Amino acid sequence: MRQDDRGRKVELMVQAKRKPKSRKSELARRNAIGVLLAGCPVHELRTKLRAAGLRPTRQRVALGWLLFAKGDRHLTAEKLQEEAEASRVPISLATIYNSLHQFTDAGLLREIAVDGSKTYFDTNVLHHDHFLVEGVNTLIDIPQIAVDTLNLPPRPLGTEISRVEVVIRLRAGAVV
Ligand SMILES: [Zn+2]
Repeated sequence: MRQDDRGRKVELMVQAKRKPKSRKSELARRNAIGVLLAGCPVHELRTKLRAAGLRPTRQRVALGWLLFAKGDRHLTAEKLQEEAEASRVPISLATIYNSLHQFTDAGLLREIAVDGSKTYFDTNVLHHDHFLVEGVNTLIDIPQIAVDTLNLPPRPLGTEISRVEVVIRLRAGAVV
């Protein structure tokens, strides 16, 4: 083979390697992946975390899975840690608190402080209020319409209502 030919052959090989995938085949490949992943809860969770500006680390995905895969929930950090351990994902309470606050700051959770000591994290971030069942410390959502019709007291002059947050405390009573 002449020196020139060899050079030409190498050039052709490089060209073959560099030949861009056709746009059509690339789209088909992406669509195929999209179809495979659509409805995949873990993929959706990763997308949800990314959309909220959080890198979907393994730990965040594991906690997000426990938090968001079961509908609307009110959880304390301790309860979430119990659930993580039960699913064989041991995570320290400090890390769980950090993640819960990151999720809250990113708008994925709403923090509800009760009595100034107990903090619940609500997976429903839309504005709504709560019943608190004393003794068992369970929060139950109240339909917003019920609170909108509350007869609010007149507010002090020069102020406006920024937000109304209602916690109605319940205790076991006589069954009527
Ligand atoms: Zn709630």
